[in-house]
Amino acid sequence: MLPQDAVVMKSALNTNVLVLNRLWQAVNICTARRALCLVFQGQAHVVHHKDNEFSTLDFKSWCDFSTQHPEETDAVSTISLKIRIPKVILLAFFDRLPRKEVKFTRHNIFERDKHQCQYCGRILDRRELNLDHVIPRDRNGTTTWENIVCSCIECNTRKGNRTPKEAHMRLLRTPRRPRWRPFLMISHTRQPDETWRRFLDPTLWDVELGEQLSAN
Ligand SMILES: [Zn+2]
Repeated sequence: MLPQDAVVMKSALNTNVLVLNRLWQAVNICTARRALCLVFQGQAHVVHHKDNEFSTLDFKSWCDFSTQHPEETDAVSTISLKIRIPKVILLAFFDRLPRKEVKFTRHNIFERDKHQCQYCGRILDRRELNLDHVIPRDRNGTTTWENIVCSCIECNTRKGNRTPKEAHMRLLRTPRRPRWRPFLMISHTRQPDETWRRFLDPTLWDVELGEQLSAN
């Protein structure tokens, strides 16, 4: 193996792989290295997507599949085998959803509001957006999920220190604590892989948690 092969292999092994629980719900993202380990240990299967059908393959089947389809480039090679990098894996045993709280952060508010000014509806770059207290702070407006929205600088300036009603401005939607878990954010921050998209469909994703998420 040439040194540059090692570099390629290393980066291939760091590719992101979507992890599904036993119920086919997306629960995490891990590196290809970790994914292949889990598949090798029999703790997960590779999910293969072809012609709108999904099949699951164990390590041996995945190795065979990789050998039969050598034209693909997203593979890592060892002396004895060539194995493709999976895009999605399905855990064999884990059937829970992770209990991750959505933290009340600037970043997460932008994600919740999809970088869209909640007054005029424009979708803008983060630099052109502010966070607005719907009820102004000095009018006892709280710094919470329910009172903070993404706003463009113009709307923010126009609204000034007034309530939306006073400023004759309407919110596109009532701000709420997000129901999603943090890894859903990958669907907004980068283009998900075609195979991932199936599992990241927001309608499939929007599972209400039985517990209240705390804003800290
Ligand atoms: Zn605006």
